[in-house]
Amino acid sequence: MPDPAPPLTHAQDQFLQVLSRDDAEAAFLAALNPAPLGPEDLSLDHLPGRVLAADISAAVDAPPFDRAVVDGFAVRSADLFEASGAEPVHLRLNAETIACGTAPRLAVAPGTATPIATGGPIPRGADAVVMIEHTDPEGDGIAVARAVAPGAHVSFAGSDIARGQTLLRKGAVIGAREVAMLAAVGLDQATVWRRPRVAVLSTGDELIAPGQPLRPAGVYDSNGPVIAAALRENGCEAVHLGAVPDDPQALAKAVRAAFSGHDGLILSGGTSKGAGDLTVQVIEGLGAPGIVAHGVALKPGKPLCLAVCDGKPVAVLPGFPTSAMFTFHELVAPALRTMAGLPPRGAARVSATVPVRLTSELGRTEFAMVALTEGPDGLVAHPVAKGSGAVTAFAQADGFLTVPALAESLAPGTEAEVTLFGADVAPPRLAIVGSHCVGLDAVVARLVDAGLAARILATGSQGGLAALRRRECDIAPIHLLHPESGAYNRPFLSEGMRLIPGWRRMQGLLFRPGDPRFEGRGLDAALAAALADPEAIMVGRNQGSGTRVLLDRLLQGARPPGYWNQPASHNAVAASVAQGRADWGMAIRPVAEAMGLGFLPVADEHYDFAVPGTPRDPEALAAFEAALRNSGDALSRLGFDPG
Ligand code: AMP
Ligand code: MG
Repeated sequence: MPDPAPPLTHAQDQFLQVLSRDDAEAAFLAALNPAPLGPEDLSLDHLPGRVLAADISAAVDAPPFDRAVVDGFAVRSADLFEASGAEPVHLRLNAETIACGTAPRLAVAPGTATPIATGGPIPRGADAVVMIEHTDPEGDGIAVARAVAPGAHVSFAGSDIARGQTLLRKGAVIGAREVAMLAAVGLDQATVWRRPRVAVLSTGDELIAPGQPLRPAGVYDSNGPVIAAALRENGCEAVHLGAVPDDPQALAKAVRAAFSGHDGLILSGGTSKGAGDLTVQVIEGLGAPGIVAHGVALKPGKPLCLAVCDGKPVAVLPGFPTSAMFTFHELVAPALRTMAGLPPRGAARVSATVPVRLTSELGRTEFAMVALTEGPDGLVAHPVAKGSGAVTAFAQADGFLTVPALAESLAPGTEAEVTLFGADVAPPRLAIVGSHCVGLDAVVARLVDAGLAARILATGSQGGLAALRRRECDIAPIHLLHPESGAYNRPFLSEGMRLIPGWRRMQGLLFRPGDPRFEGRGLDAALAAALADPEAIMVGRNQGSGTRVLLDRLLQGARPPGYWNQPASHNAVAASVAQGRADWGMAIRPVAEAMGLGFLPVADEHYDFAVPGTPRDPEALAAFEAALRNSGDALSRLGFDPG
């Protein structure tokens, strides 16, 4: 096999030429010149989700004849002109009943009526239908006590769809409505654009397919499935090929195989300057003109690589899942939509206030995912502060806002345009902003079961209280120790706030079972042993967290090795100790138990809920309190003390 890989320095040179977002897009579109791939005919059953390649006009009328839209009697409206309750008009019945699907034989002569069912064709002579409810049987016919207008209860031929009328336009995406229209005019198939078949390949030695057990240093391949799903959302057929290791031979082989036989190729990972960055070199060998942009002034997303090889789009998305998604939607999806025959995505936008300063890097178009809540003056867009490696940011966020390349930051209170991820995104009825606890998920699950939309935004206790003071949320979960009084939470409430008692969770020291510095000792002895051993590495906690306050109190000014390693969650502390990067740290008991770690209790911490004295939505808050009361067993099972 020939080796197509140019020297590594080549890819690095390319990366130095960082293009602006607009220049990268222009270069990609100019080289690709995207257009629909060609038409194909599909039967009704296979049409949903597909894009019409030509206008469709009706060859017949719908309905095909004048028909009754109620059960009753076909009449001549002139006969009933003077009918009234005082002087009902008598009509003789004709000797036939027009059911749905029967063609009338007899005309309706003056002074007569013909029984007719809904959907039945209107007989000659008749111009209206009286509802059966408005008649009474009488002798050889009926008595009608009210007048009817000409055309009453009749749907005329072609009144729904007229022969020759354009029914559906090219570019329409076919759903149930469109299938109904096609079928109503007798069409059993339609011409749609062929769907681009796009191959998806993840790259990285560390990647493990979802469903397989995780091994040390392994990471689940989330990009592959996410990109495949996003391709399908944008009119493409995704061919998900799994992950390939960072091995030049294997990579070159897999990329070439993925490229041939498909209309495009989306890779992820291996675009930045690192040991595994071979992908970009392999792309160069696929066909002319090759790479048109490598390095785009986006944040996140700088390592994006766009190429066109033999007329087909090839993109290497950054490895970090959120970077991969932003760059896909921003620069790759629009071209693929054109190839699929779809119009540009009609991005739903709303205007919202940014409550905190959003810093940004000058010179790069920056994306920030935000979650919406209702504030006192309209929508508030809370940045979902997570690194570019975070997948859950997508789940929490309602959309994103873009900080222009020339802005250094957005000041608190700035009005910004938020691009919504979906058209039907609405702020949750109950916004819970503050400290997160797994116990809270159990309570909120009950609310969701009861049909109440709630959203938890993990900003930490202080962030939650600030949002509550600004009236941008309904509930702020907090666990703050007041060092002077030793009391939890209540000392931190502002005027007009009330505290709903939550539960207690035991904080303590985590260690690996069998570690002689901790195992079998009491808290004081264990702590003394750990602090006396220069080899004992701890893991700290982030500033502003309740656990940090507790930890600092326990350490009384000591700064053991590892103190400045400060992750922001209990789980990160436990993972660090379990995997041997650190020997001890502080977290809550359920997390220690879930990871099989030893635990020395330190303090019972109170996790409570600050709420406004006058809630924005009393009914929703009452539902939350009820859910909380009913969650006692679930909380106990999770290792919390509902008190
Ligand atoms: P890379 O661009 O290959 O240097 O990867 C950057 C980061 O993204 C690393 O932490 C990778 O483990 C991670 N990453 C790369 N590909 C994937 C993927 N398919 N799914 C999830 N994470 C990934
Ligand atoms: Mg990689």
